[in-house]
Amino acid sequence: MDNKFKDFKKELNRVYRKNKIYKEKMQEQGITPEDINSWEDIKKLPLTTKQDLLKDYPNGWNCVPTSKIKMYHSSSGTTGKPLIVGLTEKDIEFRKETIKEDAKQAGITSEDTVEICYGFGMFTGGFSFYEGLKDLGCKIIPTGAMSTEMQLFYMQKLQATVLLSSPSHIMHLYEKAKELKIDVKKLPIRIIRVGSELLTETMRKKIKDAWGEDVSVTQDYGMTETLGPGLGMECIYENGMHLNPNYYFELIDPITKLPTENEIGELVVTTIYNECFPIIRYATNDLVKLSKEKCPCGSTSPRIVKFLGRTDDMLKVKGVKIFVSQIEDFLFMHPYFNHQYEIVISKEEYKDILTINIEYKENLINVPKEKIASYKIEVEQEFKNKFGITSQINIVDNKTIKPYPGKIIRVRDLRKLKR
Ligand SMILES: [Zn+2]
Repeated sequence: MDNKFKDFKKELNRVYRKNKIYKEKMQEQGITPEDINSWEDIKKLPLTTKQDLLKDYPNGWNCVPTSKIKMYHSSSGTTGKPLIVGLTEKDIEFRKETIKEDAKQAGITSEDTVEICYGFGMFTGGFSFYEGLKDLGCKIIPTGAMSTEMQLFYMQKLQATVLLSSPSHIMHLYEKAKELKIDVKKLPIRIIRVGSELLTETMRKKIKDAWGEDVSVTQDYGMTETLGPGLGMECIYENGMHLNPNYYFELIDPITKLPTENEIGELVVTTIYNECFPIIRYATNDLVKLSKEKCPCGSTSPRIVKFLGRTDDMLKVKGVKIFVSQIEDFLFMHPYFNHQYEIVISKEEYKDILTINIEYKENLINVPKEKIASYKIEVEQEFKNKFGITSQINIVDNKTIKPYPGKIIRVRDLRKLKR
């Protein structure tokens, strides 16, 4: 029995004793911790869903008395009530170590001056990086979610070498800098570490084009449920996010929810060292592609090489399944588009209409109308060829599509409203 499994087994026993909700789920399937004696056996255990975590709100899932909780975080709650997760002293320490490892993978050292552009609030982003990087010995500029103009001001004045933010925000910073005639390529930024939204390869290229070819652009992956960033950590080789060995991961078929041997599937995570809020076999809704190929960094931990989106991000338009990330990849291949877009799906007489509003990279006033009209026809045709469905592509002025604060919402599905 390997040590990690021993730790897991201990943890499963604890969850069985302390967590009524999961215990009931196990009892429904007639299983006790004694039935689980290998990693293979873990498949017998019931999956945990987001709905389970929200039962007996807000403390139902906790496995420690409230007196042991030192801090709370919560999800944004954009799709219902926010999930609240408590952290004990031990959880805070564990997370610090996770962030330090994440920073190491990104190439961040104690010599760096790190600007944290993530919000400092209930969201895990700001505080988790603050605590971990402080422990690592970095100099920290905790701008949080203040105006892009002020973020740029501190970035310049304090000579930040590392930026932490979401990919779309990194591009907003660049746009703002351009407007203010700041040449970001002349700043000492050497690492951009993104998270909170998925980074597509085309977006990585866009960020490098904007901030400089030599800037390392990598990402990490995490979620409030597991205390924030650090479930997946990309190393400096920019080829996917290594799964954190302090958790146990599986892939399941997103439809049948059964274990799959495919390299693509819904990621299921099991915590082993989270004290207040342990989760066994949590179905994350995140569809990923894993690679077990060895990474040049030497790590043998499997990597998330592609993030196909959330299972609830999968759009079904005219009977065709399509992911937002696929549409994004397609749009970003065209050099004359900006990074801001919006997908609208509506219905007319039982027919789905797919509309994509995408910003042109310049002000449209300076571009001949015929040129835009021919781009539109060209892109619509390419879209049809690639995905097999017709779309309406609207090329709009730059800065027309309003950025949303926090997590970006790219899709408006108007079909759901018409019921
Ligand atoms: Zn690596």
